Amino acid sequence: MDINPIMLVHGGAWAIPDDLAESSKIGVKNAAKCGYSILANGGSAMQAVESAVRILEDNNVFDAGHGAVLNADGDVELDAIIMDGKTLAAGAVSCIKNISNPITFARSILEKTPHTMLTGEGANRFAEKLGIARIPTKELVTEHAIQEWEKYHKYKQSVTNLFNTEKVHDTVGAVAIDSEGNVACATSTGGITNKMVGRVGDSPIIGSGGYADNLVGAVSTTGHGESIMKVTLARLVLFYMEQGETPQESADHALEYMKNRVHGRGGLIVVSKTGKWATSFTTQRMAWAGIEEGLLTYGLNPGEKFQEPPAPLI
Ligand code: ASP
Repeated sequence: MDINPIMLVHGGAWAIPDDLAESSKIGVKNAAKCGYSILANGGSAMQAVESAVRILEDNNVFDAGHGAVLNADGDVELDAIIMDGKTLAAGAVSCIKNISNPITFARSILEKTPHTMLTGEGANRFAEKLGIARIPTKELVTEHAIQEWEKYHKYKQSVTNLFNTEKVHDTVGAVAIDSEGNVACATSTGGITNKMVGRVGDSPIIGSGGYADNLVGAVSTTGHGESIMKVTLARLVLFYMEQGETPQESADHALEYMKNRVHGRGGLIVVSKTGKWATSFTTQRMAWAGIEEGLLTYGLNPGEKFQEPPAPLI
């Protein structure tokens, strides 16, 4: 099958403040270019989504890897998933600490263990065995994350209030289809500011934070994790596509369903097995960028779609 490769990334669905708007757009565009250059050079969808998410994890504008938000103890606990649409194999990590690129570690779990997810201390022990560098927490933490955490403590905002607002943070994700028609997804996050210690969100949960199946397509989600898990958002989008809806109809339908059924908001990116793609969100903003046939499309506000001439490959 000869398919035009497509790369699509997001930088989280939430009320992105104006002072982070430009850097969020630049961040997603760079990640999309990196992933697309891999696809354009014949690389796999798995390689492309892992590399794009690594770029976003290394960018401290986003809540993943460097830039992750702080939990109730002021510590960093990270979640991530990567899934291969060819085999339905997934690798995931939850509640891991002191690692720069959880997405690469998640891929190692897929490739080097008989399991799908490792969590907490056991995961960190396996990371050590693999020789993955242990990063001091302070290297992952930004001034912005500390300020947010202090603000929530000062005003004693309850976790429930936070979770029901759009103040969920900028989880990152990617989906891709390569020239062989294989799809993949990857999602990585620090979760939600002031989350309980040990809280695992939707992001590393198969079918919630992401799903990829060559027979349908691939999805990466973001938003209120407790709501996303209730409706298994990523798989729900693919279910609607299986019923004959377009990727855009399915994305909008699934997010509307989540809003009406459990009062949760979020966003997602989706690519179909035939190379159609869509983005959608019910929060104020979501930074996203996609590249198809060298043409870069990106947006931040609802309905916004900017295009740039063929992106130089990086
Ligand atoms: N879904 C993530 C979580 O609940 C947060 C986000 O997408 O911003 O952990």
